[in-house]
Amino acid sequence: MKYDVIVVGGGIIGVMCAYELVKSGQKVLLLERGKIAQGTTANSFAWANATSKTTDQAYHDLNAAGLEGYHALLAEFGAEALGIKSGGSLQIAEPADAAGLQSLRDQAAALAAFGHAARWIETSELRALEPNLAFPADAQALFAADDLCIDAPRFTRFISDRIRQHGGEIRENCAALALQADDEGVVTGLTCDQGDLTAANVLVTSGPDINASLAKLTGYDGFHSGFPMGRVPGLLLTTPAVAPGLLGRLVYGASSNEVHILPESGGGIKIGADDMDGMVIEDQSKENLKRVGQLLLQRAAKLLPALGTVDIDSCTLGIGTRAYPTDGKTIAGQMPAAKGFYLVATHSGITLAPAIAPLMAALIVTQQMPNPLSPFGLERFPGFA
Ligand SMILES: Cc1cc2nc3c(=O)[nH]c(=O)nc-3n(C[C@H](O)[C@H](O)[C@H](O)COP(=O)(O)OP(=O)(O)OC[C@H]3O[C@@H](n4cnc5c(N)ncnc54)[C@H](O)[C@@H]3O)c2cc1C
Repeated sequence: MKYDVIVVGGGIIGVMCAYELVKSGQKVLLLERGKIAQGTTANSFAWANATSKTTDQAYHDLNAAGLEGYHALLAEFGAEALGIKSGGSLQIAEPADAAGLQSLRDQAAALAAFGHAARWIETSELRALEPNLAFPADAQALFAADDLCIDAPRFTRFISDRIRQHGGEIRENCAALALQADDEGVVTGLTCDQGDLTAANVLVTSGPDINASLAKLTGYDGFHSGFPMGRVPGLLLTTPAVAPGLLGRLVYGASSNEVHILPESGGGIKIGADDMDGMVIEDQSKENLKRVGQLLLQRAAKLLPALGTVDIDSCTLGIGTRAYPTDGKTIAGQMPAAKGFYLVATHSGITLAPAIAPLMAALIVTQQMPNPLSPFGLERFPGFA
């Protein structure tokens, strides 16, 4: 059996890429060393948005294309099947924190300049949208009505079922071990722990393990330290199911109470706080996790007081590891000077998967780099040009 493409990694990125490739008529095999959607995809806040991407237009546009991709999938398959919750996002600011307010206003101005739909709202509209939240009487907010909350494991498993329906093959509990190439360096297949496989192209989407995967697959140890990707852990807490309608959408609290919350598809509230991620890196003991989890819950209860009665022991705590490129932006494209060898490694992969996947499929099928992906090649980093 000769495959057109073997995809390594069954997270949201690999699964979406495999889906677009089978839809393009490619003979595709996806390998996952464990189960589909059990890596970072299973431990993500999973806010699909371009609202937080204001550094440059190309990266903003890629994220906006991801969000558009979700809306197209919603129209095709429906929210229930995909595990997607609409309602948008709110980022709250309070005038007492002049710097925080200005920073959010700058974000709103940048989004307006990019042509992105997000609008400034005053306290009365904020209160009407989220009557159960507690915030200062003069709070204001940035409202992005199109943003979505994704149940990423459910979404990814749904798409993997579509891959099989389109004739693609998925092997779980099957790890990729070594790339095979001819004397010219052209990919001919790979060795997995079930034997040798023949393929014209290999696409690696192994998430935060990309450095180690590339080193192992190519036999070149330099990828461990030389690949421009870091690993950044993050803690998330999910409460048991709460009263329906308690929270309508994703909310970022004002800077005086750094916390973000969203209604997740099982009926609970998912909670994270960027500044608390560091507290779980060094000590991941059960006691420390519970302690940090309790702090997260307290912050969330300041924003959504009904959470004040939730018992920490009834909550689920999860640590996810972000793959974080050293310049913060996606790496996607062909491995320079290695024909048939491709990779994607990115943060914000939940948002980006529906944008990156069709572009990677187009690159592999046509051998032409699609314009929206051209700023994100590995060639931009020293040593890979
Ligand atoms: C705390 C936290 C919050 C986040 N919040 C958001 C957010 O709000 N919005 C957003 O867009 N993104 C967010 N992200 C980022 C997002 O979750 C990730 O970018 C995305 O899940 C990455 O998906 P992936 O498919 O690249 O990696 P993964 O989901 O990790 O999948 C990679 C897969 O490859 C497999 N694999 C590795 N090596 C091999 C091998 N040799 N052979 C076979 N299989 C292999 C692994 O088992 C794994 O299943 C967040 C991440 C974290 C940690």
